[in-house]
Amino acid sequence: MSRKDALTATAALPKVTHARGSYLWDATGKQYIDGSGGPAVYCLGHAHPEVNAAIAAQLGQIAHGYRYNFSTDALEHLTEIIRTHTGGTLREMVFVTGGSEAVESCLKIALQYQTAIGQKSRRRFISRERSWHGNTLGALGVSGFAERTAAYEGAFIPSIKLSPANAYRPIAGATPDTAGEACAAELEAAILAHGPETIAAFIFEPVVGAAGGCVPAPETYARRVREICTKYGVLMIADEVMCGAGRTGPWRALDRDGVEPDIMSIAKGLAGGYMPLGAAICTTAVWDAIRARDGAFGTGHTFTGHTAACAAGVAVQEIIAREGLLARVTANEARLKTWLAEAMHDLDAIGDIRGRGHFICAELVADRASKQPFAAQRQLALKIRAAAMANGLICYPVSGNVDGSNGDIVILAPPYNCTDDELTEIVDKTAKSIRQVLISEAL
Ligand code: PLP
Repeated sequence: MSRKDALTATAALPKVTHARGSYLWDATGKQYIDGSGGPAVYCLGHAHPEVNAAIAAQLGQIAHGYRYNFSTDALEHLTEIIRTHTGGTLREMVFVTGGSEAVESCLKIALQYQTAIGQKSRRRFISRERSWHGNTLGALGVSGFAERTAAYEGAFIPSIKLSPANAYRPIAGATPDTAGEACAAELEAAILAHGPETIAAFIFEPVVGAAGGCVPAPETYARRVREICTKYGVLMIADEVMCGAGRTGPWRALDRDGVEPDIMSIAKGLAGGYMPLGAAICTTAVWDAIRARDGAFGTGHTFTGHTAACAAGVAVQEIIAREGLLARVTANEARLKTWLAEAMHDLDAIGDIRGRGHFICAELVADRASKQPFAAQRQLALKIRAAAMANGLICYPVSGNVDGSNGDIVILAPPYNCTDDELTEIVDKTAKSIRQVLISEAL
């Protein structure tokens, strides 16, 4: 079941009235702790006075200086902040209104670049099953999520889907240790089979989010992908909409693998949910080729570089840097995993606890040895979400896939600035909610 279906299946959602820091309250006065930052968005929690003040100040000046008439301080400031964070040659960017638009822009930048360098036959994309990438047609076309794409098959840009890169569920013939090499070899074989001259780019999530459950790139995988893409003139696109902007520790998730992509998307944590904001970022090499031929990215929208959204992004990023929150996110990774494992040590259904930084999940399986998921009809993840809401916890469930390619998953993505006590409350309520559902299902 997709997120949308899950929403419509939820008869009566509580009405949220206000939020402060890591907590939200509904119209009945019930309090919830935000264990997943919504869908891994609220990196500074809610109603941060400094972010709100920055947005109000910007609105007092001008809400949006239309990008094709004006530049603005907010846009220029955010551009410089991102350049500092990305380092290397990832220096050129366009600001958009969210993750799907950021991914669309990445795909278009890849095609525009290939055209600019005389490689117009490179029109196909390669991506992986169990990837999200977004909900617009282009992004959905490279998304590996059959439940979401089935209704639109036949209407997508040409793309090739490979197996998920997941050390917990390695591809046939591989082990957790060799999963990275095996998936990289699968990519190289696909490029050769379809002809490198037909492939524009490979797009992947460095830490797979909603489609797979906080799945980090297997050991050596990202570095081998980088080598293969360079070898065959295929652009490497890192979709960091969910895992980027510090969610997994470093500002760029791929930093941890020591890899620079050619193009990357970011969104959710960029403005922390205070304004809709995303970005597509590319290297100077990609930009120089596009500029030489076309003079500009062909990705403009009415709200490109929205000023108040950029002001929110500046405020969010400045607070994260000033308070050293990324070091805290990195340090909390091991603690969160340990605490979750301890809190659920007696539950046989916990097959895996994984992830990076403040992006951690538990995967539930019917059998630990075979990793067999529970039957999809049980809808365990949705039941866990309902139990969590009753217990005053927001978490992010991913339903067990009907084709059995993953178990039911519960994602935690707490704000970067939540206290140790709040983290403990999130872990305790997660364990309690999972335990309650397993008991009521007699599992
Ligand atoms: N890419 C990834 C990896 C995502 O997780 C998402 C959304 O969850 C998107 C793209 C699409 O972002 P949005 O929902 O802001 O359009």
